[in-house]
Amino acid sequence: MDASVLLKRAEKKLSGLHPVVAEKARQLIKKACAEGIPIIITQGLRTIEEQNRLYAQGRTKPGKIVTNARGGYSYHNFGLAFDVCVCDVVKGNLVPNWKVDRRWHRVGQIGKSLGLEWGGDWRRFKDYPHFQYTFGLTLAQLRNGKKPPIVNAAKREKR
Ligand SMILES: [Zn+2]
Repeated sequence: MDASVLLKRAEKKLSGLHPVVAEKARQLIKKACAEGIPIIITQGLRTIEEQNRLYAQGRTKPGKIVTNARGGYSYHNFGLAFDVCVCDVVKGNLVPNWKVDRRWHRVGQIGKSLGLEWGGDWRRFKDYPHFQYTFGLTLAQLRNGKKPPIVNAAKREKR
């Protein structure tokens, strides 16, 4: 699987993210691909309304609980987080494989080497697909309108 295919496929999901975070996601895709692990981006920016709908799932709405975060309580809501899924390549097609295995852990390690925080390290709620980059900002600060830096950060972070 060529990295360019994966990158092209990821662009739409990455479009709402902070440029620094989007660039880290691209690096993660490239590095994982170079090790023979194709990943896709399943979630990027999630609006507060979308987050509230997700939070309702398994609580006031049917389904399985998938998040512990209400709207405004996830870095996804501020364009600072994204989720991935490791894929198998079956006859040239990408098939998401949600079974957390050695490859998922390797993707987590690569993400961390890029400075990302990995949800697979969380103690209470293991969120293996999840990566975030907070700029040292808390969710309370972000809810209060504090913004991460913008200036050419994406370029500077590039390697
Ligand atoms: Zn996530």
